[in-house]
Amino acid sequence: MDSLRFSAISKFSGKPEKTIPEPLKRTTAIFNESVFTLQTARKFLSDEAYKSLEESTHSGKKIDRNMGNQIANGLRAWAESKGVTHFSHWFQPLTGASAEKHDSFFTLKSDGTPIEEFEGASLIQQEPDASSFPSGGLRATFEARGYTAWDPSSPAFIMEIGNGRTLCIPTIFVSYTGESLDTKTPLLKALVAVDKAALDVCQYFDKNINRVTPTLGWEQEYFVIDANLAIARPDIMLTGRTVFGHAPAKGQQLEDHYFGAIPERVYAFMRDFENEAYKLGIPLRTRHNEVAPAQFECAPIYEETNLAIDHNTLLMDIMDRVAKRHNLKVLLHEKPFAGINGSGKHNNWSLSTNTGVNLLAPGKTPKTNLMFLTFFINTIKAVHDYAALLRAAIASAGNDHRLGANEAPPAIISIFIGKFLKDVLQEIEERVGENFDETDEAMLKLDIHKSIPELMLDNTDRNRTSPFAFTGNKFEFRAVGSSANCAHSMTTLNTIMAETLKNFKLEVDTLIEKGDKKEVAIMHILQKYIVESKTVLFEGDGYSASWEAEAKKRGLANVKTTPLALDAYISDKAKKLFESNAIYSPAELEARHEIMLEEYIKKVQIEARVMGDLATTFVLPSAVKYQNVLIQNINGLKQAGLKPETYANQLQVLEKISNHINIMSDHVEKMIEARKKANKIEDCRKKAIAYCDDIKEKYFDIIRYHVDKLELIVDDSYWALPKYREILFLR
Ligand code: ADP
Ligand code: MG
Repeated sequence: MDSLRFSAISKFSGKPEKTIPEPLKRTTAIFNESVFTLQTARKFLSDEAYKSLEESTHSGKKIDRNMGNQIANGLRAWAESKGVTHFSHWFQPLTGASAEKHDSFFTLKSDGTPIEEFEGASLIQQEPDASSFPSGGLRATFEARGYTAWDPSSPAFIMEIGNGRTLCIPTIFVSYTGESLDTKTPLLKALVAVDKAALDVCQYFDKNINRVTPTLGWEQEYFVIDANLAIARPDIMLTGRTVFGHAPAKGQQLEDHYFGAIPERVYAFMRDFENEAYKLGIPLRTRHNEVAPAQFECAPIYEETNLAIDHNTLLMDIMDRVAKRHNLKVLLHEKPFAGINGSGKHNNWSLSTNTGVNLLAPGKTPKTNLMFLTFFINTIKAVHDYAALLRAAIASAGNDHRLGANEAPPAIISIFIGKFLKDVLQEIEERVGENFDETDEAMLKLDIHKSIPELMLDNTDRNRTSPFAFTGNKFEFRAVGSSANCAHSMTTLNTIMAETLKNFKLEVDTLIEKGDKKEVAIMHILQKYIVESKTVLFEGDGYSASWEAEAKKRGLANVKTTPLALDAYISDKAKKLFESNAIYSPAELEARHEIMLEEYIKKVQIEARVMGDLATTFVLPSAVKYQNVLIQNINGLKQAGLKPETYANQLQVLEKISNHINIMSDHVEKMIEARKKANKIEDCRKKAIAYCDDIKEKYFDIIRYHVDKLELIVDDSYWALPKYREILFLR
């Protein structure tokens, strides 16, 4: 009884190790406490410096050095009043995590006098040693150095770790020659592109609109398990998921976890991380249990996209850290456990104007309805035309287990809009060739607004299976993985939207020049777009086998694995799209493609190694021990002179175990050989495909199958790994 598993379970007290202080303050009293909001800035900056910061916050305009010094001084004064000693440029490199390098305010003057200072130059730009961040060969090709530059549109904040407090400056991370090495740089460019394109289109409807801001509200799904049990599972510690584990007798079939009472330990953890989040200005709003046991979700009030993404990145970090205080472990992996649901991160997305209009909310008047229809149909067209890029944007080794795999939704990009709007589009479509006239009652008076309750009613189980669904006043991109940085999907979505709107404007203007009235021209192009993109609309059950067949007939792609999905990034179409919208140069796309392939290879490689290690050093010894017990037992019975039929059952079990061990070990050996072969491949894409096809697809399932069978046979007290039934049901 001294196995790691049993000591983990006995340590698993069902209580956090330390008592966590209860939050006493109201949320409004702590919200933004650790953020240098404009309101706070007002108190610490001169009028001049405040104005300059405010302008940059709204426009992203650069701040000059002189003003930089003033703002830096104000920032330091504020930070020091809160016990901060260090500052850091905070950025999001392509590793998927956030990065910081801390410098102290403390320094020595040339005469040796110790002082505290924070210069404008250090606020505006830094050169972290960037050589170990992924660059896809960009830095080698261009210039060895990289630098971080302040993003004033996301406010500085104080990161509190234990008793240490650091002033964090959100920054972009680029190579010395300007190629982006992070997720934020292209995102900011995409936000500019869609602002401009959407603004141009808005002028058809309302000349008062002078800014369009994409909004994002993410819903973060995650698992929470006991930390001691996690430590006893090397696969969870190294890969974030279980590579083995038989489904427990009870899984999610009773559907008793969804929206059920939150276990007390998890509830304490939630309140604790929510508190940390509020201090950082992350406007969390909802928390609940998800479908699978031990699975939960939280979601904030939506925000401007750049800020929303910084907040999500920060939150993932906070959750991980706060969980440790509760002796818990958070799993953000897309598929931590086989046989039960995986985790996603729905990206609720819309476009909002400076006049306070949500462009994807159906209007109350014919005119605003036409504006809604314009943005609604352009989104459908964008998703239809660039589905492959959206698929690429959500591709990762983790998400492959969640999309397109067994027991998972397919990797087909389709859109759910609900029956009512589908009928509206059909009505418009059926009038192809007809001449609309501007007073066309039927067309302009589509009373969409009144039918929204009906639309929401339609918003039931069926649309939950859709990867991209319209939910009343926003689209919800649901195929995003739970551990992903939303910048990947948001950069792509906003870029394809910018491109589609630009073309839309061109086409409408052409008709207007030919003499069409504005509304009529708009209706004609919308009609054309419906015809061109309706194959992407799907209202049925996205998980059904018949949909895969139907989608194939419609010519929709169903790319199941990451190495192939990523091809879309380097297609001519993608290069043209991203270059003409000034998001990525072709060289940057090639670099990103390579980085993502490398990440994929490494992830699968680590999983394969962990599988091999666990099979050999955990599973095999447990199985052999039990085998020996059976052998002894059979021999003893034989010696006692009993007839063979009295120990036939033990013989049968022995034979089964031996078979499973043999097949398992044999495949582990073969998998090691396959890895050796794959490692010799120079070409990154071919290597990723080899890791996918010749290692993961060929060996993972079969090895797992035999290990999981052994788990069901071997004496429970010999089994070294914590089992699903122990991990998934938190007490
Ligand atoms: P659910 O999808 O679970 O029914 P909601 O529709 O209320 O929940 O919201 C889900 C998420 O969508 C929340 O994070 C919310 O802030 C966000 N959201 C709501 N409206 C918008 C919008 N206009 N733009 C972006 N996100 C939005
Ligand atoms: Mg939702």
